[in-house]
Amino acid sequence: MRLSQRPFLTGLAGLSSAALIFTATPATAAAPDDGVSVTAAKQCSETPRELPINQFTDHRELGVELARIERVSAGKVDVEQIGRSNRGREVWSARVGTGRKAVLITSEIHGNEKTGTDAILQLLDWVGTSDSAKAKRWRSELTIVAIPKMNPDGAELDRRGNDMTWQEVVAQFPQLSTSQPAWNYYTRPQQGDDYATRPGFDVNRDYHPDLNYLPRPQDFPGSSAQTGWYITPESRIVRDVYRGLKAEFGKVDTYVDLHHQGACYVMPDDPDEFVTMSISGKFVDNPATTPGYEKYAKDYDLDYSKRLNVAVNTALQAAANNRPVFGNITLYPQDINLPGTGLGSFALNGSGAVLFEVRGQTQTLGQKYRAVLTQGVYIGLDGMLSAIASGQVHRLNPADYDRIPPRGPNIGTPGADDAAADARIVAY
Ligand SMILES: [Zn+2]
Repeated sequence: MRLSQRPFLTGLAGLSSAALIFTATPATAAAPDDGVSVTAAKQCSETPRELPINQFTDHRELGVELARIERVSAGKVDVEQIGRSNRGREVWSARVGTGRKAVLITSEIHGNEKTGTDAILQLLDWVGTSDSAKAKRWRSELTIVAIPKMNPDGAELDRRGNDMTWQEVVAQFPQLSTSQPAWNYYTRPQQGDDYATRPGFDVNRDYHPDLNYLPRPQDFPGSSAQTGWYITPESRIVRDVYRGLKAEFGKVDTYVDLHHQGACYVMPDDPDEFVTMSISGKFVDNPATTPGYEKYAKDYDLDYSKRLNVAVNTALQAAANNRPVFGNITLYPQDINLPGTGLGSFALNGSGAVLFEVRGQTQTLGQKYRAVLTQGVYIGLDGMLSAIASGQVHRLNPADYDRIPPRGPNIGTPGADDAAADARIVAY
């Protein structure tokens, strides 16, 4: 099916193989997309490089755009500064709707993963201004709280980690003065970024399912299979919003975190077709059978997370009728156990959890497919939010989640396997 459709993709500036040439010679670049161009696919590269990103929304533009949306929504979208990053940049939330189901959406916890922020802005603009029956239903059934660009220091540096030293952590938590730095503290080059000069943390390993946890020296340096500590201001900001919503609504119905993954994953049944997006609803081992996590078992609801992901996938597969790249959706690896991630910690608190992993971070794709990939995020969010608002999500079959194909291999060269060997870098 995908093979027969590919010739029609060429006019769409989509993600077909021939469009994916990063270091091509002129002869290769001019080659037509013949549908079996394995040569072109093989040129996909995971090697970091400097690429333009100016079309993405930066921190200053985000503030301007949120203020504009708040204004034109005539009070329907409420924008609030909810804290400051470690380097003092504002972090904002935008809240819309008065419904009893709370949905929290975050983007750019990794600052080199930017489509989520643009998709959130489009979504806020629409739900805050539309008079359609659908928008009214969203606003009456849902309370959507978005925290776009939650790691603005990393975003301005266009890198994964935040901008914070271990010394700054210890200054704030003196009880850690004799502890080893956290395992997710970056001090060496990664993804082409110089953390030796400017260290930072992977904020998406700094969460803890105990929303009142305070850092204890015996919990360091920790590991990927253990919980985080809320040592970064960015994770604390999101935690505080989540905790507030939980107090207000009893539970946070859904938490969505918007990410990007490697650029060169292909579909499991077709090495010429790149994965447009991987999705997931599973981030931790079953708490009922995991020592120390039993207390979270009564709230944890993997089936609900699966239903939410089915809604995302269904919307994208429908959109693939017009634009086949939206059909290239796979499951993110299901064998991970990362309780220190936002999704892991909040899933343990009873939220349905959804991960978006859009193709390619800025060091490999730059802004090349910004519009189409942002549209993919928008379509997925739109389908999911509509399903929650209508109640349809509860009629979806969790078993359909398990039928979403797994991610195929990463065909990137060189060094993709080397990078993949370090799960700390590539795991979402
Ligand atoms: Zn990420």
